[in-house]
Amino acid sequence: MSKYLNSKYAMFEAYVPGEQPQDKKYIKLNTNESPYPPSQKAIDAISADAVKDLRLYSDPECNVLREKMAKLYNVEKDNIYLANGSDDILNFSFMAFTENKEAAFPEISYGFYKVFADLYDLECEMIPLKQDFSIDYKDYLNKNKFIAIANPNAPTGKFLSVSEIEEIIKSNKDNVVLIDEAYVDFGGESCYALTKKYNNLLVVGTFSKSRSMAGARLGFAIADKALIDDLNKIKYSTNPYNINRLSLIAGAAAIDDNDYYMQNCKKIIKTRERVTKELTALSFDVIDSKANFVFAMSDKISGKDFYLKLKEKGILVRHFDTDKIKDYNRITIGTDTEMDIFLIKTKEILEAK
Ligand SMILES: *Cc1c(COP(=O)(O)O)cnc(C)c1O
Repeated sequence: MSKYLNSKYAMFEAYVPGEQPQDKKYIKLNTNESPYPPSQKAIDAISADAVKDLRLYSDPECNVLREKMAKLYNVEKDNIYLANGSDDILNFSFMAFTENKEAAFPEISYGFYKVFADLYDLECEMIPLKQDFSIDYKDYLNKNKFIAIANPNAPTGKFLSVSEIEEIIKSNKDNVVLIDEAYVDFGGESCYALTKKYNNLLVVGTFSKSRSMAGARLGFAIADKALIDDLNKIKYSTNPYNINRLSLIAGAAAIDDNDYYMQNCKKIIKTRERVTKELTALSFDVIDSKANFVFAMSDKISGKDFYLKLKEKGILVRHFDTDKIKDYNRITIGTDTEMDIFLIKTKEILEAK
């Protein structure tokens, strides 16, 4: 740390992303990326001419992609906001929608919520999950503060129904309720249609998981126009050209190929159900997941030990060293071949115990 850093950040704890090792090739089941490539259309869209055009700024209004997304989600273009990854939208929301300096979110959830809350000096209410790791929607009624919920939740994979979400929105009319749907395409149900009915609902999505484009950094929000205008105000006060030209082009092509991605999601769901069964047969406790990962633990091996042994064998999963979930690992669902190797290595590890 230099002597120039604002003292406010001296003790600040930043988010720690999952490992992205460059040293050797791992089977990467640690950051919930898709094992399948972007669609051929999206790949072909990045032509040499598109690269040449990088000398020009990107469209700050992202008109082409916003129009396509509005059609897909059956909303108006003014109800869509695009960002350099959905993390950017979470950041802006914790900044912009917390007049009373308070925020509520699940105690076990996406780690970034706490980081953003700290960044803006918010008082956080971190609401415990139920014993079975599910969220009780009743804990979020009448909170009178900004609320963020990942649905399905991470790293548990558990989800709330749209009607439960609606109860939360209805009882918190004076505050924004942010529903982070990073994993919704893997079996949950999106609540974006409720944005037509409630002006305090902000639905956040991403191209990083179900649309195979984590490296493109493309996130989106769907909400009432006034909320979208607010996000734009922050964007135009920080980084107006927030999305690069290539990502906008690839994103638009991806929306044209939506069926391809939804087919991939179906494949991933099928693989997830199989892996859940096989891990259960190996006496793992596997949380029922609606995401592209499973959260699992075994009495036969500690979470940390399992993570380290898998890493030695060339497989990366995500281990969180926090007390309540340290027995577990979050395992991204890869291709069937990758998961077969994962299961073989898992058996080897357990047999060597
Ligand atoms: C992966 C993830 C994000 C971040 O998505 P980006 O669009 O890649 O920034 C947001 N929320 C949750 C819950 C996630 O798991």
